[in-house]
Amino acid sequence: MPTFVIAGASLAGAKAAETLRDEGFDGEIVLLGSEPERPYERPPLSKGYLLGKDSRDSIYVHAAEWYAEHHVDLRQGVTVTAIDRGTATVATSGPSGDGEVSYDKLLLATGASPGRLTFPGSDREEVLYLRTVGDSDRRRNPGRRPGRRHRRGPERRPRRPRRARSRQRRPDRRHHAHLG
Ligand SMILES: Cc1cc2nc3c(=O)[nH]c(=O)nc-3n(C[C@H](O)[C@H](O)[C@H](O)COP(=O)(O)OP(=O)(O)OC[C@H]3O[C@@H](n4cnc5c(N)ncnc54)[C@H](O)[C@@H]3O)c2cc1C
Repeated sequence: MPTFVIAGASLAGAKAAETLRDEGFDGEIVLLGSEPERPYERPPLSKGYLLGKDSRDSIYVHAAEWYAEHHVDLRQGVTVTAIDRGTATVATSGPSGDGEVSYDKLLLATGASPGRLTFPGSDREEVLYLRTVGDSDRRRNPGRRPGRRHRRGPERRPRRPRRARSRQRRPDRRHHAHLG
């Protein structure tokens, strides 16, 4: 039975596995992904999920049981570290150590990663990147609503702008200067 290895377990990798099954491929499918999560979609991470409107369950490409039901061997937290086309194997590294997987067909669905800023100050902790569900979780605020500035603690009346007060004082100052 042929083995189809897919490197990269996100939207493209998960959809490729689904298409293979839908179109009748009945060999082994091994889906290898660096992330500890099963495949999920990223658009909600900067939208509904980040704002607390979408649930965690809604971001996943398939239900957790889909992989076993469709005989897709999903290996989470496993990175492909090398490809040996001569022996048709990929080297892997993961929670249970290093390994090798043989393939008849290999699909690279490893996506992209964000460019990192390199100018001075870009290593400060206030500079954030948003790529994974973990990144979104760290910035998530379920109480936040779109279009509203988030305010910590109870709502307070806005302070009177300083400018308005200084404008009131100015004529007095001018008056004293004139007298002096
Ligand atoms: C916050 C955010 C919001 C977005 N919003 C939109 C939107 O509104 N509309 C839109 O069209 N697009 C949007 N995108 C882009 C869209 O999510 C991507 O185009 C899409 O995720 C690409 O899917 P992919 O499976 O090809 O790659 P990726 O999502 O990049 O996934 C690749 C996967 O492969 C894994 N991987 C990489 N190297 C290895 C390796 N050597 N071994 C094993 N696994 C590996 C990675 O860990 C990752 O899980 C957004 C992206 C982000 C980050």
